[in-house]
Amino acid sequence: MEKDCLFCQIAAGSRDADIVYKDDDMVIFKDIHPQAPVHLLIVPVRHIRSVNDLGPEDGPLVSAMIARARDTARDMTLDGSGYKLLFNVERGGGQVIFHLHMHLMAGWKY
Ligand code: AMP
Ligand code: ZN
Repeated sequence: MEKDCLFCQIAAGSRDADIVYKDDDMVIFKDIHPQAPVHLLIVPVRHIRSVNDLGPEDGPLVSAMIARARDTARDMTLDGSGYKLLFNVERGGGQVIFHLHMHLMAGWKY
């Protein structure tokens, strides 16, 4: 845990968030400034700065994040209409919180 990291604090429970799922490895909570009707963040508990810092040993973690995002979308009946999964990577990629997270966005009319 990085003590000054917002997402480490949320994962550790020392800062509030609207949490929709939590296990030993990841937490999912609502984005505070939603960019879509449904906007969730899938966040590993362990501090990893960005996609750039993932190693081969992190394959199971990333796979679990994607699978859990899929299951969450299905539980919210978003699977049929569809959803977007997105990683912003470093400043030029739009990342502003430097603790790995995947956006799940959905709910647009089509
Ligand atoms: P990124 O641009 O990929 O780094 O995305 C960071 C996201 O975190 C943005 O969509 C923010 O709205 C969101 N965010 C920032 N602070 C909080 C917070 N305290 N709780 C929930 N989401 C947050
Ligand atoms: Zn962190």
